[in-house]
Amino acid sequence: MMKLVLANPRGFCAGVYMAIDVVDQLLELCPGEPIYVYHEIVHNMHVVDRFRDRGVKFVEDVDDVPEGSILVFSAHGVSPMLRAQAEARRLTAIDATCPLVTKVHNEAIRYARVGYQILLVGHVDHQEVVGTRGEAPDSIQVVQSPADIPNLVIHDPAKLVYLTQTTLSTDDADVIIKALKTAFPLLKEPPSSDICYATTNRQRAVRALAPSVDLVLVVGSRNSSNSVRLTEIAEKVGTKARLIDDKSELQPEWFEGVETTLITAGASAPEDLVHDLIAELIERFGGEVEQRDIYREEVEFGLPGTLKELMRERGVDPSNCKVVRTDSAPALHNWLESRNIPHRTVDLTIGATQ
Ligand code: SF4
Repeated sequence: MMKLVLANPRGFCAGVYMAIDVVDQLLELCPGEPIYVYHEIVHNMHVVDRFRDRGVKFVEDVDDVPEGSILVFSAHGVSPMLRAQAEARRLTAIDATCPLVTKVHNEAIRYARVGYQILLVGHVDHQEVVGTRGEAPDSIQVVQSPADIPNLVIHDPAKLVYLTQTTLSTDDADVIIKALKTAFPLLKEPPSSDICYATTNRQRAVRALAPSVDLVLVVGSRNSSNSVRLTEIAEKVGTKARLIDDKSELQPEWFEGVETTLITAGASAPEDLVHDLIAELIERFGGEVEQRDIYREEVEFGLPGTLKELMRERGVDPSNCKVVRTDSAPALHNWLESRNIPHRTVDLTIGATQ
């Protein structure tokens, strides 16, 4: 018998619900028309494959999109250069950038305008960092670790600010920011943390729950920054952790001597994959499910203005359209009930994001 502990919150965040819904709504609004998406709409293999099966085309180069077509910018955001390229090709650009990524873009623009140099803490090749950097390429330097600090070119230490990628590990970011502050004592902070609520809360849940289990399974893709960070955080507290796209990747040897497994999911991982994983583990080992509530989230984003505009052009009233979302905790409860799987919920709530 195995005890399965489900971390709450886990899985889709408000930005991912919105980005996925944008593509869903476009498929309905423009039947028969090709829908192009620049980069993966969110970093999850299953989400992308499911859209591909419905005819959506994913591109990494705007020149691959035929002139006049519809192009969606992914949740990670794009640089102004890419927007200009889309305009030059007369594309109908629909912007599914997460508003919390846009917030970081706006901070970069604002600080660069008043002559600040910006130290962007993040992963240099990540799509989000590429997009943010593109807002002010001459003013932004990317810092991936404290080892990068000696190579920074600083003109005026009194006009220096740091910003961060939204999906970093809060622990890792703290180490880098501390090192930056030691090197540049006048370093300015962003008005509020750039690491988003969803990243922070999923990490809080893993940090709280991982020490009391034998194994942590994180559902998510390898190119999903926040999913990888969840795995690293579990390992940091000394618990074995595996990042899996779905149940097909489970290996029998992972479960030797394991009595309690914690399951969580990155912000771009669909909840049905979590259900499949639970069903598989219950079938293999038997057991019960305990959902542990650590942080409450009530964040919702509306549909982007660019999509609403297209809806109006096509005779659809956007005020009747809302982002579709299904909260994972009640969905899991209903699913477990329907399967007669023994379960309970433990309220360990330490806070809420509204
Ligand atoms: S992880 Fe955070 S920044 Fe990324 S889409 Fe979700 S809410 Fe937005």
